[in-house]
This record gives sequence, structure tokens and C-alpha cells, in this order.
Amino acid sequence: MLDTSNHIPLRDVLAGPALNEFGSFKPLIDRLRRPLRDLRISVTDRCNFRCVYCMPREVFGKDHVFLARDSLLSFEEIERLARVFVSHGVEKIRLTGGEPLLRKNLEFLIERLATLRTLDGKALDIALTTNGSLLARKAQSLRDAGLSRVTVSLDALDDHLFRRMNDVDHRVADVLRGIEKAHAVGLAPVKINMVVKLGTNDQEILPMARFFKSSGMVLRFIEYMDVGVSNGWQMSEVLPSEQVIARLNHEFPLLPLDATAQGETAQRWKYADGTGELGVISSVTRAFCSTCTRARLSAEGKFYLCLFGSQGHDLRRLVRINPQELPLADAIAQIWHGRKDRYSELRGSDGASVLTTDQPRIEMSYVGG
Ligand code: SAM
Ligand code: SF4
Ligand code: SF4
Repeated sequence: MLDTSNHIPLRDVLAGPALNEFGSFKPLIDRLRRPLRDLRISVTDRCNFRCVYCMPREVFGKDHVFLARDSLLSFEEIERLARVFVSHGVEKIRLTGGEPLLRKNLEFLIERLATLRTLDGKALDIALTTNGSLLARKAQSLRDAGLSRVTVSLDALDDHLFRRMNDVDHRVADVLRGIEKAHAVGLAPVKINMVVKLGTNDQEILPMARFFKSSGMVLRFIEYMDVGVSNGWQMSEVLPSEQVIARLNHEFPLLPLDATAQGETAQRWKYADGTGELGVISSVTRAFCSTCTRARLSAEGKFYLCLFGSQGHDLRRLVRINPQELPLADAIAQIWHGRKDRYSELRGSDGASVLTTDQPRIEMSYVGG
């Protein structure tokens, strides 16, 4: 029987690994027949920005209590868990946060992850999502450690607006330098994520497209999502991707592209003049749960099956009491087998939540994007 609480009983864990007839782990399929392919690992819940849609200052102020240092998974523990996830079919790992570049010596973790091989013997695809503030300084060492590519969040080119949105008065020029450096050292293709909040930064859609068109980088427009409880989300502040595309099409004719991989979050478009591509991520208006192959691990080792999951499964306890990998493998298999999350598909088309008010909601800064 699947354990759905945070606490995974030891007797279930010791029941034995999910091995196939060749003695290796079977790729995992959840209740909706979705495989486990991507793992997002949050390495910290701290951030040096206070983006208004993610960590509003009123909630994440001086009194906010962040995770204690000894409650974070160590790099060795993350590597052990990642190894098990990879043995279950994970091919892509994305490091996130909070701001992942705030985690000291992150390069050491990347070096460890870069030694892992997928079930068919390939190197793992290791990506990082960052606000870019420390990227100019770190891009080369991240690349040298084995990072494959980077996604930089950037919500405006206008310095005044950018400072207002990050709410710590951080200059856009530093992030642009980080982006250039990442591109130059080959953390490619660099992707740029812009969260569009209607009435706040939607006037930046066209300037951003003009700036990144022909750059070899891929700009993606993300619908503002109802993650967590702290951002005071309202449907009236969401600009549907369809309207983003219509605005862009006005200036740059666009053609749709096919998805490159199952479970891809972005719908891809190319500029008709052949100068590159862009994407839209329509988490609110066009749910993609049916192909969602993503699992999430919080910085303190909680395993979440969905961005809107209200409960995480405590893998830190398991990794700390089990020197072997088999019990961990079995626990992860049991949890994924029971997965039937599809929040965005169930959410009303008017944006009405399907979570009750007494269900805890995780914050994006806790579990990563
Ligand atoms: N700090 C890093 C950064 O900003 O790239 C990594 C963590 S951040 C939580 C990951 C991504 O989530 C970012 O691209 C951010 O823009 C996005 N994000 C945060 N809150 C969001 C929301 N309410 N709706 C849509 N995207 C959101
Ligand atoms: Fe920090 Fe990223 Fe959240 Fe902005 S989106 S507050 S940079 S974690
Ligand atoms: Fe995946 Fe949950 Fe997002 Fe649906 S709502 S795409 S299941 S993370």
C-alpha cells in the first residue's frame, strides 16, 4: 500500500527494490502512466531577491525563518538521492532554489552529479535556474564543474522596473553581464525566463523579444502562476500566452515548432525570418499535466510530486538512516507509483483553486521552479 504521509514507514521501505529481470531498476510509471524523467533539486530556500510574485517582502521580511543549515541535505546526500532517481529513469536534473548560486561551493555538487550516467549510459543533462545576479562571476567555474546549461530569470530590461520587481534595487546590467558570460562559456543554449504579470511588466514583452531575437538564446514567457499563498495571485493579473503570441506576431511573424521532448513545458515558436526561436509556458491557460514527468526535491529533502503538492515525503530521514541505496530506491518507487497529481488540469478555467484553504501550499522559493 502506498504511504501518502510525510513519514515513510520502515517496513514498507525494506520491502525490497523494484528490479526488472536484468537486475536493474524498472523505469517508473505513475498512476497516469507518466514516467519519472526530470528531477528539480532545490539547494536553498534563501534568495538575495524579493521578487514581488515569489518572495514578497511583506512575507519574506526580517522575521522570516529560513531552513536551518543542518536541516539542508548535504552534497553527499543529494548525490546519493540523485543516483537513485537516475537509476529510476531520471535523465535531467535542474538545480534551483531560492537562489541556487547562494549555496556555497555549488560547483562541488555539480562535479558529483556530472559523474552519474542515465540508464542508457549517457551523461546527465544538468541545468540550473538562477536570477543571474552572481552568474558573471560563476559561469566559468559552473561550466568547468560539468553544468550543461543555464536558465536565467529576467522580467524586464528597463532598469527602473527591474529594480522594482526584484525589490532589492538590483541593477539589470549585472544580470545581462551574467547572461553574456554564460553564453560565452558555452552554457548553451541559454534560456531566459520572463514571468509576465499583467499591469506590472507586460509592456516589456516586445523590448525583451527585440533584445534576444538573433542572440542565439531562447526567450520564454511564463504565465504568472498561483503558486504558494504569499503572492496574492489573481487571475486578472495573468496574461494568457495566446495574447503574448498575438502581441509578438504583430511585430515579428511567428511559426509554431514541434516539441523536442515529451514533457516539455514550453510551446515553441520560431521567427519566420529564421532568426531564432522563443517559447511560452502556459501553466494556467493550457495545462500540461498529462505529460508531466517532473519530481521535486526540496533543500531539506522533501520529495514533491507536483508544484502544487501540499505534502512532501521525507527522504532526508531515509537517506540519513540507510547506508544502502536499495531502501531509498524502493521508497521513491512506491511514492511515484501512487502519483496522480494534475493540479493545473483540475484548476478552473477562471483560475479557481482546487485546493481547500486548510491544505498547506508550498512556495516556489521553497521547492524551486
Ligand atoms: N531564484 C532562481 C530564479 O529566479 O531563477 C530560481 C528559483 S525561482 C523560484 C524559479 C523560477 O520560478 C523563476 O524563473 C521564477 O521567475 C519562477 N517563478 C517564481 N514565482 C512564480 C510565479 N508565481 N509564477 C510563475 N513563475 C514563477
Ligand atoms: Fe528569488 Fe527566484 Fe523567487 Fe525571484 S523568483 S525571489 S530570484 S527565488
Ligand atoms: Fe506537473 Fe503539477 Fe504542474 Fe501539472 S500542476 S504540470 S502535475 S507540476
